[in-house]
Amino acid sequence: MKNVNRILGIGALSMMMMACTTNPITGRKSLQLANDQEIASMALQQYRETLTKSKVISGTTAAKSVQNVGARIKNAANNYYRSIGRESDLANYQWEFNLIDDKQVNAWCMPGGKVAVYTGILPISKTDTGLAVVLGHEVSHALAGHGNERISQAMVAQYGGAIIGSTTSGQMATIFQQVYPIGAQVALLKYGRSQELEADEMGLYLMSMAGYDPREAQPFWQRMESSSSSSGTPEFLSTHPSPENRRADLNKHMPKALEYYKNAGGKI
Ligand SMILES: [Zn+2]
Repeated sequence: MKNVNRILGIGALSMMMMACTTNPITGRKSLQLANDQEIASMALQQYRETLTKSKVISGTTAAKSVQNVGARIKNAANNYYRSIGRESDLANYQWEFNLIDDKQVNAWCMPGGKVAVYTGILPISKTDTGLAVVLGHEVSHALAGHGNERISQAMVAQYGGAIIGSTTSGQMATIFQQVYPIGAQVALLKYGRSQELEADEMGLYLMSMAGYDPREAQPFWQRMESSSSSSGTPEFLSTHPSPENRRADLNKHMPKALEYYKNAGGKI
């Protein structure tokens, strides 16, 4: 922050403070300088391009599971945001959940709610509840505005205070391409560690609100850890703390998750 302070004037700094958003589920604050609608529209274009280049599976049991679990997570999020009067936060989301035939152990969600699950993750997710861990985590990256946060950080790093409030669409498109590389390379996107932790926490709550047992999250992450050596580094593990830290974190959030699960009709 010290360097940023030096680059930016007082006016720009106060604008940045105004551009901070508080996550209604985790309470974490993040910098959101970019226009969500603009990001969502670029994400949609990127998503369509990716689907065109990929083999999208539809109609199979697995594809239906991805759709159904995705819909339940999405509905849980809608209900929660409505219950706290923050439904306007979701105005730019148009959810879509697609299964792609690809052996990579991966899944991702772009800003605006465009989700892809690769078939390579299915042997690890195993059940709908395992899939709910995956989709809860990915949907949370989008809901928490992690794309906007990464773009905002890139805006400040590359252009300093001058960019704030006056980003041209060309500059935005360039930054967007850096954060969400084209086509199959989307699989390589990396979030920061604090974003991964937040997606874990928020994902755990969302799956619980959707009626999936959060106690299945731990075994899922264990299966994920033991698979990662043979198949590269999935998005989930790219910048994440050690398995021990992840385990400790899940345990910390479990009581609240179980409350949500109980409220959704789950048996404890
Ligand atoms: Zn992640």
